[in-house]
Amino acid sequence: MASHDEEILGLEQEIFLLATMMDTIPDSIYFKDRDSRFTRINKYTAERFGLTDPGLAVGKRDFDFFTGEHADKAFRDEQEIVSTGRPLVNLEEKETRADGSIRWVSTTKMPLRDPAGNIIGTFGISRDITEKKQFEAQLERQAFYDPLTQLPNRALFTDRLQHLFHRARRLSNRGFLFAVIYLDLDRFKGINDGLGHQAGDELLLQLARRLECCVRPSDTLARLGGDEFTILLEDIANEGDVTRVADRIHKELSTAFTVRDTEVFSTASLGIAISSTGYEKPEDMLRDADTAMYRAKANGRSRHEVFDSDMHKKAISMLKLETDLRRAIERNELVAFYQPIVDMGTKQLLGFEALARWRHPVRGLVMPDIFIPLAEETGLISAIGFWMLRQACGQMSAWQVKYKRELGISVNVSTRQLSQSDVAEQVQRVLKETGLDAKSLTLEITESALMQNLKSSAAVIKRLNDMAVKLYIDDFGTGYSSLSYLHSFPVDTLKVDKSFVSQMDGKPKQNEIVKAIVALATNLGMHVTAEGVETEAQATALRELNCTSGQGYLFSQPLPAEEAELLIAAKVPF
Ligand code: C2E
Ligand code: CA
Ligand code: CA
Repeated sequence: MASHDEEILGLEQEIFLLATMMDTIPDSIYFKDRDSRFTRINKYTAERFGLTDPGLAVGKRDFDFFTGEHADKAFRDEQEIVSTGRPLVNLEEKETRADGSIRWVSTTKMPLRDPAGNIIGTFGISRDITEKKQFEAQLERQAFYDPLTQLPNRALFTDRLQHLFHRARRLSNRGFLFAVIYLDLDRFKGINDGLGHQAGDELLLQLARRLECCVRPSDTLARLGGDEFTILLEDIANEGDVTRVADRIHKELSTAFTVRDTEVFSTASLGIAISSTGYEKPEDMLRDADTAMYRAKANGRSRHEVFDSDMHKKAISMLKLETDLRRAIERNELVAFYQPIVDMGTKQLLGFEALARWRHPVRGLVMPDIFIPLAEETGLISAIGFWMLRQACGQMSAWQVKYKRELGISVNVSTRQLSQSDVAEQVQRVLKETGLDAKSLTLEITESALMQNLKSSAAVIKRLNDMAVKLYIDDFGTGYSSLSYLHSFPVDTLKVDKSFVSQMDGKPKQNEIVKAIVALATNLGMHVTAEGVETEAQATALRELNCTSGQGYLFSQPLPAEEAELLIAAKVPF
């Protein structure tokens, strides 16, 4: 049997071991009396409290180190342990210290008893889990938020939509309504490719902030990816509530964004789906909002459309149209129409722009606004573009021979054509085949198409220029305000977009944009053609601004070849 002295030695050893362990362990360990006053804390806790010595904590309470809220809660927990004897295990607590710093701990608290079993206080141990908490929060952000805009992503959006479906089912007879808006920027690709991806990101970021201003805090604005955003509008009264939000968005977008010192205008097309249609699944609602958005694009962009079941039929009919378009060329259903381009001064005929039409066996005359985008999507544009080029050049060559007039012919070249096929090669072949002088041919490329293919277009344009084929920039003014790139291309003429011409109603203010474009063109040694001239007032205003040539219903609609030929034969000014 061990002697009394040996026993004491053993106890001292034990206490020493425990004390060493307490002060080495990187967790908070503390003992409190029944009134929640510290009776002992370890070194780690002292450090956290900012105390030089653990002994200084004796007699103090949580209120001396933490904000009231946390201290209150700890006090209540401990009082409960003291009265019930039940421990609290692995409790996650948020500690806010007096200086405002926050830390998360996982705490276990036990009752502390004397040898007779009476509860004399509490014992607690708290482990710092702040890093784990931060990591969890970060993971959650990554899973549910878009890193660029910090908006909810597709996963979170679908999740919220799903919740609304459940809620609507519960409240089915109370007419609980909600809506999804699908938003897509109209010319984002052009901006992204033209100004660079970073500029594109900046624009998206600014757009996100503007969109946030258009919705209520209870609505969910999300970025699905790219330039596609969705908005979930909760608890709306009627369709008007949704279209009002759409109107607000269009209005927000009517002022320019400033991205890297460049002013950029960007409109958006919006599709709307409303829950009253009786959806079964969130995916269906999102799909219909998407379909409606495509409709808004097809109807001329910068607008919104509400989904209706007709649209579904139309979407299917577009699919059918696509199949038909594949056969249109071989079945000889494409036709070239010709719209006169007129000298604004002398009113003489200068030439024509060739515009594609499709004589569909069932639908009748289909306009290019419908089938050109379809052709671009499906890659058929190369074949159609080549067909138009050959048709227009052949026609003009024949007219020149027949009427001995030096008229020009303009042919449109689309974005996809520039990147897909060897346009310069095609032009050379067609000129040779048709015998048309290269000087008589002009290719019209839209501003945005040019920007989207800066590298490849530069090479193509140089070759065309070497052949003496002229280049017009189509729809000028609708793409960018950044004009620095214009110098580098041998552009002959800028075609002012008809949206600007149609605003020229005689008031000087409305003429400012056209005036600026003419000034720019003059500086760069280019000409200006006005598109969409419909009234005498517009023609007069354009003449005053030194706009050299024009095109529009005032002079003539696009005409079939036989009718266009009558104009050549007549030789009368417009
Ligand atoms: P665009 O090249 O800007 O052609 C001008 C459009 O404006 C034509 O529409 C023309 O009919 C219309 N227009 C002409 N004068 C007036 C006017 O006074 N007022 C109004 N409101 N409109 C006027 P269209 O023929 O429907 O062509 C639409 C677009 O389709 C063209 O716009 C062009 O981008 C594209 N397109 C047409 N033909 C071809 C083609 O052969 N190849 C390619 N790639 N695109 C084509
Ligand atoms: Ca054109
Ligand atoms: Ca145009």
